[in-house]
Amino acid sequence: MNFNQRFRCLTCETLIDARLGMSNRDVQPIRFACLSCGEAIEITISDYERIKIKGAERVPFKGPFDGSHPFVDIHIDFPVSFDKYVMGQTPFMKAVGRIGHENYQVHNFRLESLNHLYKKVDVLKRIIRLYGKNADLFGKLCKKEFDENLRSKDQKDLNLALYCVLAKVFFPFAMPGENADSVDLYMRIMGDLHNNKKEEFEEFIKELVETKFLKNLQKDCLEIYPQILSAELAFRPALFLDFDEEYESGLVGFRVSVDDFQTYKDLYKDISEILSRQLVLVGGINNLINRGDHNEFKDVGKQTPKNMNKFADVAFGQKSFHLDDCWYSIDSDVLDNQLRNSIAHYKAEYDEISQIITYYPRKEGIKQEKSESMYFMDFMRKTLLSYREMHRMHQLIKCLFNYYYIIYNPSA
Ligand SMILES: [Zn+2]
Repeated sequence: MNFNQRFRCLTCETLIDARLGMSNRDVQPIRFACLSCGEAIEITISDYERIKIKGAERVPFKGPFDGSHPFVDIHIDFPVSFDKYVMGQTPFMKAVGRIGHENYQVHNFRLESLNHLYKKVDVLKRIIRLYGKNADLFGKLCKKEFDENLRSKDQKDLNLALYCVLAKVFFPFAMPGENADSVDLYMRIMGDLHNNKKEEFEEFIKELVETKFLKNLQKDCLEIYPQILSAELAFRPALFLDFDEEYESGLVGFRVSVDDFQTYKDLYKDISEILSRQLVLVGGINNLINRGDHNEFKDVGKQTPKNMNKFADVAFGQKSFHLDDCWYSIDSDVLDNQLRNSIAHYKAEYDEISQIITYYPRKEGIKQEKSESMYFMDFMRKTLLSYREMHRMHQLIKCLFNYYYIIYNPSA
């Protein structure tokens, strides 16, 4: 369902024509920038009818829109175009037209799941906090909220319950089958190492556990999950793009109908930093496979990291260079270091009206001339893909812990 509404911006008094497409989410917090002055206009629709507006007021009008005012299409579930108003060409119709009905069903199923799951953010935070602190309460919450039984207070069982909860909450953010595929790969690689290089492999795991590297990395990953769930609104259109081949061709700009760039730039930065440390695990295993010693990197002259510990300090963008002939393939798009650096060093600007982020990746002193740009939509897409990569490597952390607790079994 859609309805048309004319608004008057309270800041500059410009009249704006909006077509609001309704989602099935019980609360729909919509946000867009006034197309003239850029001030935020926020519309919250609750229970599909109650409307609260900030930054603008409703103006009576006789339809249809005739193009005499700036126009904005709005839908929280899809990317929407910046195009002019055309009657009948709603964001929903256009979206289904782009990906086909079958794909739309998959997208819609994920959104329906999120419509329930987003209310669990606080519960999830509690479970993650209790995981390392109070096994009884942790187990109780897992059972009550997600129907997961904690079999015992052994670390391996705590992990089992935790990872089952994560799987239940975060499947809508994944591509179907993706997690199973990555766990299969880890089991195969670790099985090979166990059979052929057991001693070396266990040295590697022991170092990861005894230095608390693995535990700290797990903890940092866990802190990301509630933030991802909290951001589900802004991820909805990014999830849609899983199916949108037109988007892949890179020719179209899309609008996001909620929030803005400033809300998510830290999330992207934090995920990138975790990815950089997760690559240490990939590197250690790669060295084991290729050279039988997790500390031995391929000799590339002076820049060769002396050991795994030194490799941890190598800049994110440089790490893949030391992963020779690697068993694990990582999306080069995710490894893009320029945006991360620009955001980390506050060299990124955001235009609310066009939703374009401009960033300055090169070091050039005071003059910031050579810029790159992307839409906020593209940024959320990048953040989603980075999260997926983090989640995929988090499965590796899970598998390494399983090996440590179940096969290596330090208490035996
Ligand atoms: Zn305005």
